[in-house]
Amino acid sequence: MSTSIFSRIIDREIPADIVLETDRMIAFRDIAPKAPVHILVVPKTEDYANVVELAAGDPQLLAELVATAQQIAEEHANGEFRLIFNTGPSSGQTVFHVHAHVLSGALEEGSLGR
Ligand code: 5GP
Repeated sequence: MSTSIFSRIIDREIPADIVLETDRMIAFRDIAPKAPVHILVVPKTEDYANVVELAAGDPQLLAELVATAQQIAEEHANGEFRLIFNTGPSSGQTVFHVHAHVLSGALEEGSLGR
């Protein structure tokens, strides 16, 4: 199985602006931000392609992901945030290693379906 771009960030093979890391999770700034705060929260495992698979396969890890999003919003914004999981190519998903977009502040016009 090919290694996802996010696994290459986790392995430090390609650089990223990492804002938080635990044993099971990593968070880094999106390379093409759509809002003043746009951080990706990514479970380190690439066993789950999207949030539906993660919810079915490891609900505790999904709960950890949501708690990580809250922590990021407290550290980088006012504690309030949008949490977006693109699921499937037609929804805009381009990386099939489950991840959440944590967004805070005004979204760019035309981004994320708005
Ligand atoms: P998706 O479209 O799958 O929901 O989200 C993938 C996100 O990953 C996109 O917002 C894209 O900008 C971001 N992205 C893709 N490649 C890289 C990268 O190499 N580094 C970082 N920091 N973000 C990336």
